[in-house]
Amino acid sequence: MQLKIYNSLTAEKEIFKPILEGNVGMYVCGPTVYSNVHLGNVRTFLSFDFIYRTLMHLGYKVRYVRNITDAGHLTDDGNVDNDRFVKQTRLEKLEPMEIVQKYTVDFHKVLDMFNLLPPNIEPTATGHIVEQIELTQKLIDTGFAYESNGSVYFDVLEYNKRGLNYGELSKRNIEELFANTRDLDGQGEKKNPQDFALWKKASPAHIMRWNSPWGEGFPGWHLECTAMSTKYLGETFDIHGGGMDLKFPHHECEIAQGKACNGAAPVHYWMHANMLTMNSQRMSKSTGNYILPMQLVTGDNDFFEKSFHPSIVRFCFLQAHYRSVLDISNDAMIASEKGFIRLMEAVKVLNSVTPDDQKPSGFSVQEWKDKCYEALTDDFNSPILIAHLFEAVKYIFALNDGKETISTHDLEDLRSTLNALIFDVLGLQNVEENNNEKLDQTLKVLIELRNQARKSKNFELSDQIRDKLLAEGIELKDGRDGTSYVLN
Ligand code: AMP
Ligand code: ZN
Repeated sequence: MQLKIYNSLTAEKEIFKPILEGNVGMYVCGPTVYSNVHLGNVRTFLSFDFIYRTLMHLGYKVRYVRNITDAGHLTDDGNVDNDRFVKQTRLEKLEPMEIVQKYTVDFHKVLDMFNLLPPNIEPTATGHIVEQIELTQKLIDTGFAYESNGSVYFDVLEYNKRGLNYGELSKRNIEELFANTRDLDGQGEKKNPQDFALWKKASPAHIMRWNSPWGEGFPGWHLECTAMSTKYLGETFDIHGGGMDLKFPHHECEIAQGKACNGAAPVHYWMHANMLTMNSQRMSKSTGNYILPMQLVTGDNDFFEKSFHPSIVRFCFLQAHYRSVLDISNDAMIASEKGFIRLMEAVKVLNSVTPDDQKPSGFSVQEWKDKCYEALTDDFNSPILIAHLFEAVKYIFALNDGKETISTHDLEDLRSTLNALIFDVLGLQNVEENNNEKLDQTLKVLIELRNQARKSKNFELSDQIRDKLLAEGIELKDGRDGTSYVLN
């Protein structure tokens, strides 16, 4: 089955042809670590985690690079004074690198909670200042960039004059862009308002600063991704991903930088994940319409009536295609929880099904499998895949009720395919199994403490442990091989 990927650049679903057969180079724009990631950010990273898992499941050797934006850069409105790091540093009275460390740790914790696999390389912008200075110099030398008052800008008009097309990804016309852009930043410095900063002169108040041939300053945001993707994946690589909102200007600028530097398009397949909305409004820190991932998991929020296990959140996200907007609501989460529990129940039930090689079955495991892989390879269609999983769920319950049969071969096939799709590809975790394991470990600790209390003749404490557990429906049984427990 051929893998098809929707390419934002051509606006078409294309057959995926990697540069090096069997290998994939994938770069995804990472977080700006100046505050906690919100649930919307998680959706984008989770979409690419599913894509990464699928590529590996399909047999590709993937080098997945996801950066950390830890250098102060311009905000969308281009105003240096709005530098998010500088602001947060003042607010929290911390060193810039303390802010970076704090929120990088938080980012990793959150993604780990949702069972995202770490990328193969996670480079930081501040670790690649030298490469960014080199790229800037190269762009000046080739006439694509110019220095102005200690800052360096990319010359968009010059780029187009040379037959290249700024706006090709976001389908914007340069004349319109010029007419509609207000020159908020670099006033009097830029030749044209659409020119973007490769290097920015640091004002005296700016804390994150580095020496450069143009004086002390800091790199432009767009440049870090070009520097790091080129370094780890080459001048041209297979897949570049990010949230839909990064298409313009961020990714547009990356294309321009790549083409100007190397004379070739940097990316073959541009992939954009769609936004998470809550109560029909885009989730974003700036509007206040956001929820922190932990708040959904602990239930400590005003939007949802109860808490939800991270795997249920993950399941809910994957029930929407990565290119569709997903609106998260209480009802949607409750529905996902129901579906998730049923899916996990089916996995459990399937383990106790006995095959029958005599009677014919009304369900073709092979056909079902083909449909699952068709969905998976059709631009990573997780909702269709999940719909097929539920056809299997129905069949599994029919097997359990003795209303259907399955051969030995098919049973093995169904079990291994279902497990691979649910746990490896969708990345779901069995909540019950996890909880049981944790409970088991906790009880073993309590039994150990009770044994120690008995050894030191503290019978009051040892009895207390036994009685309190009994009151919770957990009975401790002392036998010749030690103490075991029974859940009543
Ligand atoms: P940032 O840290 O702001 O650079 O954002 C990190 C990633 O989260 C980017 O790929 C954004 O496109 C993505 N993102 C931001 N808001 C949302 C949202 N509401 N839904 C999905 N992705 C988002
Ligand atoms: Zn980027």
